[in-house]
Amino acid sequence: MTLLSVQNLSVTYTPRDHAAVRAVHDVSFTVDDNEFVGLLGESGCGKSTLGNAILRLLTPPARISGGTVEFNGRDITTASQDELRDMRWVDLSTVFQSSMNSLNPVIRVEDQFEDTFEAHREAPRTDPAELLRMVSLEPHVLKAFPHELSGGMKQRVALALALALRPKLVLLDEPTTGLDVVVQRSILDELRTLRERLGFAVIFISHDLGTVLELADRVMVMYGGELVEDRPAAEMLRDPRHPYTRGLLGSYADPRLAEVKVSYIPGRPPDLSREHRGCLFTARCPYAEDQCRETHPDLLENHGGLVRCHVAQQERLPDTPPGAVEGAAPIGAFSTVSPASDTAEVEVRPVLTVENVSMTYRTRRGLRTSSTEAVRDVSLALFGGRVTALVGQSGSGKSTIARLVTGVERPTSGTVSFGETRVDKLRGRALRNYRRHVQMVFQDPFSALNPTRTVAYALSRPLVNYRGLRGGAVRDRAAELLESVGLSPAGQFLDKLPHQLSGGQRQRVVTARALAPEPEILIADEPISMLDVSIRAEILELLGDLARTRRLAMLYITHDLLSARLLADEVLVLNKGRLVESGATLDVIGSAQDDYTRLLLESIPNPFARAR
Ligand code: SF4
Repeated sequence: MTLLSVQNLSVTYTPRDHAAVRAVHDVSFTVDDNEFVGLLGESGCGKSTLGNAILRLLTPPARISGGTVEFNGRDITTASQDELRDMRWVDLSTVFQSSMNSLNPVIRVEDQFEDTFEAHREAPRTDPAELLRMVSLEPHVLKAFPHELSGGMKQRVALALALALRPKLVLLDEPTTGLDVVVQRSILDELRTLRERLGFAVIFISHDLGTVLELADRVMVMYGGELVEDRPAAEMLRDPRHPYTRGLLGSYADPRLAEVKVSYIPGRPPDLSREHRGCLFTARCPYAEDQCRETHPDLLENHGGLVRCHVAQQERLPDTPPGAVEGAAPIGAFSTVSPASDTAEVEVRPVLTVENVSMTYRTRRGLRTSSTEAVRDVSLALFGGRVTALVGQSGSGKSTIARLVTGVERPTSGTVSFGETRVDKLRGRALRNYRRHVQMVFQDPFSALNPTRTVAYALSRPLVNYRGLRGGAVRDRAAELLESVGLSPAGQFLDKLPHQLSGGQRQRVVTARALAPEPEILIADEPISMLDVSIRAEILELLGDLARTRRLAMLYITHDLLSARLLADEVLVLNKGRLVESGATLDVIGSAQDDYTRLLLESIPNPFARAR
């Protein structure tokens, strides 16, 4: 039976003194009782805006500019605030990506449940301990404050809260983005079990097609504020009909295979504040033809689903080439990235060596001292022109090792050597001088750049401070750096502010800034985890090229073995501060010996596993 019916829904966003943005346009779909629907697309495609419109959570200047949203026959778009309050948590509930940060920090978990029950006294109560058990948390967590829980535990509490009043529909907006693969996998497995047990419908919003295809009954793909494809998940996996969906699917592969290739979608989503003619995907589509530029395609029946594409409608879409497994096929027409070759020339002398390093943090509370061992007896060496991946979950000690290599912290025992220089002994000016040789690319390109300063300014700081450049030479060198990271022509980017760039472009600027001091070592700390899946491969390709052409020794920190397989020559697996496995990338990933390495491998979203 139809639970939710969205018909011709449009959302307009009208910032003051700016043109109106058509954030969601004429979207129609239904969700049945107990159905699991995935809603997919890159950042800025309108999925979260659509989710917020369904829940009536839009804030001005965004507003519903047309259409209806009916839940069990009641129109949400015209409901009063009192009616909406009665429906929330009981009929519809939600878990956002940042839900874990939306827990009230000054009250215990049990009181967060109590607040929810108080707001809906008439609704049947469920024992909070039972709710926690459903999401694999021990009842003692009820007594904890949010800051005492890890990110994964907080997200589980948010999920338990969303289910507390047994809603009929749960909207999950990127609920596991930002969590490491193992935690993500366990939360998603729990979600699957809970839905089977409790019976509720789900709208799962994500940019991660792999995760959604594993879980959903049906998948809707959004691009430029419109639905471009809607079909059963199994069908979409077997025969994706929209070129954009094919591009998204190309980001996945099984890293254990002897031959691994992924693709990315070049370019960025359309600027919706401008008028567009024709298909919104034209600029990025490998199959675009004249009619695509002239006529906007409609969403029409096609192969048991709906698709918005002229070429697919006319059955002229090329067959997909053989993909990661037979019958499931990432597209070959987008730019492809293949793993690093094992034939890379290895320098005999390492640029940096870490020997038997241990790091223990001591904290003091009153008279009591406690200690946490973050890293134990780790040794590694970085070579020019080679990428070494350090792989493990959050809290495994990866970032501690990065801080030891950069000299930000000194080890409790062991040595860190840069050539003949003992990094762990450096202080003051000598330490500052060393930092020119080791630079970082950070996880979050959105906060790594000052939002009020131009790209030219961001690049000028290291050029002035480390290279001693002055005047016009600074701008010339900044332009060269931008060209070297693929931002070409550089003149188009130098005077832009960070918000005028896409996520991928920002990460390229951050990479250019790290190259400015001409370092010998580059530490890339989860550089793709905040980016859309569709553009991750492009940044990996850039980093690999830079390491090899500039003979950089690169330490690539990640929790994702697929990206390690694509980028790294060598992999070190870290679990609870100890190295559990290491070796050439293909050897470690192709025939993992340690249980922990196997767990990391099994946690990678792999939609093709469903096709087997
Ligand atoms: Fe590509 Fe044309 Fe189809 Fe749009 S209509 S997705 S440009 S082939």
